[in-house]
Amino acid sequence: MEIPWNLVKGGLPAKPEAVVFVRDMELRTLESVEKTVPPVDVVAGIGGGSSHDLAKYLALKKRARLVQVPTILSADAAVTSVIGIRQEGKVGYIGHVIADQILVDFSLIKRAPKELVRYGAGDILSSHTATYDWRLASTRGKARFDQKFYDRAHEILSRLEQRRFDIADVTDEGIRTIVELYLGYAEIAEKLQSDRAQEGSEHFYAYNVEHVTKKAYVHGKLLATGIVIMSYLQENEFEKIQQLTSDLGLETKLRATGLGKEDFSQILMTLKSFSEEGAYYYSIINETQFDRPTVAKLYEMLS
Ligand SMILES: [Zn+2]
Repeated sequence: MEIPWNLVKGGLPAKPEAVVFVRDMELRTLESVEKTVPPVDVVAGIGGGSSHDLAKYLALKKRARLVQVPTILSADAAVTSVIGIRQEGKVGYIGHVIADQILVDFSLIKRAPKELVRYGAGDILSSHTATYDWRLASTRGKARFDQKFYDRAHEILSRLEQRRFDIADVTDEGIRTIVELYLGYAEIAEKLQSDRAQEGSEHFYAYNVEHVTKKAYVHGKLLATGIVIMSYLQENEFEKIQQLTSDLGLETKLRATGLGKEDFSQILMTLKSFSEEGAYYYSIINETQFDRPTVAKLYEMLS
């Protein structure tokens, strides 16, 4: 990404063979970018989520070592091994690459706009609604449940809660907490061979926002709204989640993502078919009637 690259390029000990910038995460874009890169030993992803996914993709194709350098923390892509891409506007995953190193430079991250670090909490708090969906799915015979990893996910959530004001203030402790908790979930995902403990209806809402509006967003920003919506529909500690998002400094109202009434209605009215057709995990979305009164109620709540 161009802005973070300009911050770090002066401090590098060697000149890179090639520098490529993320345009979008469509598979055909990634394929054409790959052709412009010569054989290399190391690929470094410098910036936010998309730069890390692009770096994973290039490391996979070039059989190179991978170093991730997050300069913001708005999503967990620097830590996860899975490569997130878009195909015709839909989120998909191709392949896994494990980073050789993840370099977390506190002073560099502190130069980013604070909100782009705070929203990193979204990929942790998502576990609150995702684990509910996971258990719901298992009671419907749609998923295999594992109490040990469910409990571990909830331990991670309580650490997020304990450090919420550090995250809101973007202190060293706040940055360290986000990265450590990402690592905690990466470990669960690897052992469980599934990201169910961290990805559920709140993510599917975020994916459908991108799909309906055809725009790119800060991942954690969409999640913040998605978590509030889904905890309400799940009747899952909704008031506590509202307080916690506010303490973390996360804006959850629709104005944060610039969504108007029309877009919002369309996103919710199509959410169930989007989730079913995309074969996303069984979640509260499958059991909700997104009729006009429900959508109107949610719109009012988020305005
Ligand atoms: Zn995510």
